Amino acid sequence: MSFDSLGLSEPLLRAVNELGYSTPTPIQLQAIPAVLNGGDLLAGAQTGTGKTAGFTLPILQRLSQMAPPAAGAKRHVRALILTPTRELAAQVEESVRAYGKYMKLKSTVMFGGVGINPQIDALKRGVDIVVATPGRLLDHMQQKTIDVSHLEILVLDEADRMLDMGFIHDIKRVLAKLPPKRQNLLFSATFSDEIKTLADNLLDSPALIEVARRNTTAERIEQKIYPVDRDKKRELLTHLIKQNNWFQVLVFTRTKHGANRLAEQLGKDGISALAIHGNKSQSARTRALAEFKGETLQVLVATDIAARGIDIDQLPHVVNYDLPNVPEDYVHRIGRTGRAGATGEAVSLVCVDEHQLLKDIERLIKRPIPQEIIAGFEPDPHAKAEPIQRRSQGGGGGGGQRAPRQGAPRRDGAKPAHANGGGNGGKKPAPTKPNGNSSAPRKADAPRPAHSNGQRNGPAGGAALLGGKPRGDGTGAGRRDTPRSGQRGR
Ligand code: AMP
Repeated sequence: MSFDSLGLSEPLLRAVNELGYSTPTPIQLQAIPAVLNGGDLLAGAQTGTGKTAGFTLPILQRLSQMAPPAAGAKRHVRALILTPTRELAAQVEESVRAYGKYMKLKSTVMFGGVGINPQIDALKRGVDIVVATPGRLLDHMQQKTIDVSHLEILVLDEADRMLDMGFIHDIKRVLAKLPPKRQNLLFSATFSDEIKTLADNLLDSPALIEVARRNTTAERIEQKIYPVDRDKKRELLTHLIKQNNWFQVLVFTRTKHGANRLAEQLGKDGISALAIHGNKSQSARTRALAEFKGETLQVLVATDIAARGIDIDQLPHVVNYDLPNVPEDYVHRIGRTGRAGATGEAVSLVCVDEHQLLKDIERLIKRPIPQEIIAGFEPDPHAKAEPIQRRSQGGGGGGGQRAPRQGAPRRDGAKPAHANGGGNGGKKPAPTKPNGNSSAPRKADAPRPAHSNGQRNGPAGGAALLGGKPRGDGTGAGRRDTPRSGQRGR
C-alpha cells in the first residue's frame, strides 16, 4: 500500500515523497482515511509509530479543501494540536511545516519558557494551525491574544502523558473555550480510566484505531543488567562509556536533581554530558538536544517526562542509571533504541535497592534480563536495601518542592549542570555508531519498524481498546490541579 492510494493531494504526496517515505505506517494507513472522513478519532499509538504524519497529513488536506480566506482577509486558527511537552510541540510543528511545504497554510508553535510576544505577533499575522502546550495556550486565551472561534479540528497528542503531567484541568479549561462543532482526534499510548473518561466526554462516535503497544520489548534491543553498589554507579557508567567508546548515550535518572548531578560528574570524568528536565530553561533544553542530535554531546541525561516528547530514537545506547518506579517506563525508555531494524543496547545499573523494581520489570516483559558483573564493580553481597525515593519527577529537582501552581513563576532559573557541554574540552570521541538522527520529521532512509500490527478495530475492537465501556462520570475527582511534574507545558 502506498501513500497515493490514501486519497492525499499532490502537494502532500510530493512532500512525503521528498522525505523518502515510501510506505505508510499502520497508524497512517488507518488514521489518514479516518481523519479525511471528517469524523472523530481515538487512536492508540506511541511515539515512533508515525502518528504525527497520521494526523498532520489529513489535517493539512482538510484545511486546504475548506474555503480559503478571501484575498486580504485574515487567516483564522482552524486546527489546534495540543501536546504535553514543549519539545513535542516544536517537533510536531516542524512536521506540519515539512508536510505542508507545498501548501499555502500557515502554522505556529506556542509554549512557555520563551517570550510570549513573538507568539502574539505570529497570531496577529494569521495562522491556520497552532501547535501548543496547554498552559501557554491558556495564557493566550486569557489575554485574548488567540481567537479560536473558527476552530474546526482539535488534536490531543499523547493525551495520556498530558494527564500524567496533571494537565487535565488545563485541558478542560481549553475545551470549554472551543466552539462545540469540531472534529476531535485523541492520540494516546495507554488507556487508563482517566483517558477513557476524557475520550467519552470529548469524542462523538469516534473511529477506533490501535497499533501494537510496545508492551513487550523489541527483539532487536539487547538488554543487560549490571549489578553494582549504589555508590559505584557513576564510576561504572564512566567505565562502560569509556571502555566501549559509547557515543550518543541517553541516560535515564529518576530525579531531576540526580540528572543534574550525574551530568556534572560525568563532565568531571571527561565525558561531555548535559541534563534535560523540566526545570531547565527552554533554551538550555533546546541546546542540549541539538548538541546531542548533532553528536557533539556524548551523553544526555534525562528524566522520563523530559525524554518523552523528544524525537530521538534509534539511539545506539540507552542506560537506566536508575530503574524507573513504573515498570512500563522501562519499556518506553528502552524503546528509544533498536528501532528501524537497527540493533540497540539498553543497559541498567541495578543496586540492591532496586531488586523489587527489577522483578516488576521482568514480570512485565515476561523474561529475565541477562546479568553481567564487571570486574572491579562486584556488588557487596551483604549490602542492605534502602527505600527508594518513590517520587519520580514531581518534586522539583529532588528539593522537595511541588510543581508551581498555575500563574506562579517557573523555576526555570535552575542553572544548567554543565553549561559548556561537559568537561572534555569540547573534544568529540569517535562515534561508535553514527546514525544520523535528526529532528522530526525524519527522512526515511531505513524501512519502518515493524512494531505495529495494522489491525483496525471495528466497534467490538474499540471496546477492547477501551477495555470495556468507558466510565462517564467525567469528574476527574481526586486529581490535583497542579501538574505532577515540575515540567509545565507552558
Ligand atoms: P512519530 O511517531 O510521528 O514521532 O514518527 C516517528 C518518525 O518516523 C519520525 O521521525 C518521522 O519522520 C518518521 N516517519 C513517519 N512516517 C513515516 C513513513 N511512512 N516512512 C518512514 N518514516 C516515517
